[in-house]
Amino acid sequence: MPRLEGKIAVITGANSGIGLATAETFLAEGAARVYLTGRRKTQLDEAVATLNVLDPTGSRGARAVGVQGDVTNPVDLDRLYEQVKAEVGRIDVVFANAGYAAPSGLGGLTEEHIDGLLNTNVKGVIWTVQKALPLIGDGGSIILSSSIVGTKGFDGWSIYSATKAAVRSFARTWAADLKGKNIRVNAISPGVIQTPAWTESDLPEGQVNGFFDFAASITPLGRIGREEEVAKVVAFLASDDSSFVNGSEVFVDGGIAQV
Ligand code: NAP
Repeated sequence: MPRLEGKIAVITGANSGIGLATAETFLAEGAARVYLTGRRKTQLDEAVATLNVLDPTGSRGARAVGVQGDVTNPVDLDRLYEQVKAEVGRIDVVFANAGYAAPSGLGGLTEEHIDGLLNTNVKGVIWTVQKALPLIGDGGSIILSSSIVGTKGFDGWSIYSATKAAVRSFARTWAADLKGKNIRVNAISPGVIQTPAWTESDLPEGQVNGFFDFAASITPLGRIGREEEVAKVVAFLASDDSSFVNGSEVFVDGGIAQV
C-alpha cells in the first residue's frame, strides 16, 4: 500500500521548489488530496495542472488543488481552511513550507528586511499551523520547514537564520503543546538545495554557482541537494512509518551539519 494512501495534505508555498516536489511525491505516495498554496496564481495553476496530468499511480484524477494565498495574510489562510473543511472535512498532514531567504549583515539591517522575513518565515508558519489545528485529528502530522542555518553562523544571514531557529524551536514546543492528541510536529532542516529560490533569484549566476560549489565542498556527499530528496524525507515524516518521530528535527543536508 502506498505510504500516504488516503491522506489529505496541505502544503504552503507549493508552486515551486521543495513544496512542489513534495506535492508530487505525496501524490505518488497515494495522498487522496493535496492542497497547494502560493501567492503567484499563474505558477500555482501551472503546478496544479502538471500534477493532475502526471499520473504515477494511475488514479491521480484531480487530487491536486491550488488555493492562491499569502501566508502573511490570515484572511487567506482562513479561506484556505474553509475550502478544505467544505471539500474534505479534515487535514492529515500540514507542510508549512512557504518561506524565503534574503541576506543582510549586521550594520545594514532594515525594518523592511526584518519584518519581511519574520512575517513570512515565522508568523506565516504560526498561523498556517494554528489555523489548521481544528481540522487535524488523531494521527496528524505537521512538518515545518527550517534550515541548517538555524544552527549555524554564516555571515550575512542573521535574520533568515533566526527565523529558521524559531521554526526548529516550534517543532519541539508545539509537539509538547499537542501531547496526548497524537498529532506530531517535526522540522526538516535542508542544507543547500538547488531550487528556483537560488536559480531564479536576483543574485548573479556566478555568485549562485560559487555558493553551490562552496556548499558542495563542505558537504561529505560532495554535492548540494535536490528538491525531490527533501520531498522524500517530508513524505516519511508525513507517513505513519514515522509514528515515533515527534518534536524532532531532521537534517536533509548530505552531512553538512556535521561540519
Ligand atoms: P522556492 O522555490 O522559492 O519556493 C518558495 C515557495 O514559497 C514558493 O512556492 C513561493 O510562492 C512560496 N512563498 C513565499 N512567500 C510566500 C508567502 N508570503 N505566502 C505564500 N507562499 C509564499 O524556494 P525553496 O527553496 O523551495 O524554499 C522552500 C522552503 O525551504 C523555504 O521555507 C526555505 O526557506 C526552505 N529552505 C530552502 C533551502 C534551499 O537551499 N533551497 C534550504 C533550507 C531551507 P509565491 O512566491 O508564489 O508565493
